[in-house]
Amino acid sequence: MPPMGLHQAIVIGGGIGGLSAALALHRQGIPVTVHERAASLEPVGAGLALAPNALRALDRLGVGHRLRALAAPHPAIGVRHPSGRWLARTSTAAVEAHFGDPIAAVPRADVIAALLDALPEGTVHTDSPATVIDPGDDRHPAVVRTADGDRSAGLVVAADGIRSATRGLLFPGHPGPRYSGFTTWRSIVTPDRRPTAAGEVWGRGRLAGIVPLADGRVYVYGAALSPAGARAAAGEHAELQRLFGDWCAPVPQLFSLAEPDRLLRNDVWELADPLPAHHHGRVALLGDAAHAMCPFLGQGACQAIEDAVVLASLLGPETADPAAALPTYSATRLPRTTAIVTASRRAGALIALHSPAATLLRTIALTLADLLPTRTLLRRSASIYDWRPPAPVRGA
Ligand code: FAD
Repeated sequence: MPPMGLHQAIVIGGGIGGLSAALALHRQGIPVTVHERAASLEPVGAGLALAPNALRALDRLGVGHRLRALAAPHPAIGVRHPSGRWLARTSTAAVEAHFGDPIAAVPRADVIAALLDALPEGTVHTDSPATVIDPGDDRHPAVVRTADGDRSAGLVVAADGIRSATRGLLFPGHPGPRYSGFTTWRSIVTPDRRPTAAGEVWGRGRLAGIVPLADGRVYVYGAALSPAGARAAAGEHAELQRLFGDWCAPVPQLFSLAEPDRLLRNDVWELADPLPAHHHGRVALLGDAAHAMCPFLGQGACQAIEDAVVLASLLGPETADPAAALPTYSATRLPRTTAIVTASRRAGALIALHSPAATLLRTIALTLADLLPTRTLLRRSASIYDWRPPAPVRGA
């Protein structure tokens, strides 16, 4: 085995979390390699909402401007009734005026490309599954098994997603992901006309989302209560028409434009029970591996990017031992991400309402909220969106 390089970091997983971590560490002067088990970083996923907190973190990574440029401004975003009536409304300009940035909706593939392009060539090894075989401690390196042999490192970042094998190894007593009750559909489509209204449409136990992208395409998504693993016998398009066919335009029209091989269907699982820590030994868990959440606040990837920036801010080329920074990483990230996992589940509970009485009460509450000044509505998101990257610790 090669000698331990305390400043050699290994990242497991080449999703948004893993690539953000690699770039953040690289920018702190720490040599890093990424092992991704997939054969290529194919553009899976559809659109992604990057909230102001994530855009600030992406600025720290040097790619914020590239992703901001892809965001499309929209004068009317909010929540509508399936009839098309607004229940609560704002605009991208209002969000930007309040938080200094809009919520930038971009293709996930563009986020991956921006991160990848900023990394030195050769950083990412695809077709390269990796397994932590020893998490290490303050006297021993961590050891990661790859197809090319065992590698030792002073720091391992496990960004191996919601089904993280590393999490199972570090915290064998943790119950793992729990099904949220929701399934989702996502696609990027090309309509003839740009939708005049953006945001979500909420019905009984289901929702649809319409997000115009800067290039004229539209990210369209749906969520509905469904047993885990259920798939539509008549096909997903027929299922979407069954669920959303009588909703306001352009919801059914946009779903009908989704090409079958570009229509993603994913059940939503979450880490309902927080982990005791986001690290063990020399291994830091990051992104969905640490805190997979329901997508209803659009914060899963945003929090993964925050994790990466916070972790790297605690380290630098002068750091005597990166493992010493990991308790601070856990202490900083655990409370914030646990609160957002809980808030995301609560947002899902609002959408899950399906009795007529409960749905009516929700509609009244949202309609009253629409009467509040925009500033009051936006202030509710402040604890998430106001986050700012910490200053890097000098000579940590
Ligand atoms: P992943 O993207 O799952 O990446 C993990 C990677 O690790 C994978 O590439 C996998 O192949 C690799 N891997 C696993 N095991 C190994 C191994 N042993 N060796 C090597 N590689 C391995 N978030 C937002 O911020 N905004 C949104 O608008 C938003 N919308 C969403 C909508 C839906 C319907 C869903 C389901 C999620 C949404 N999210 C959103 C959440 C977001 O997609 C995730 O939180 C984010 O992609 C997690 O990134 P990650 O890198 O942690 O994990």
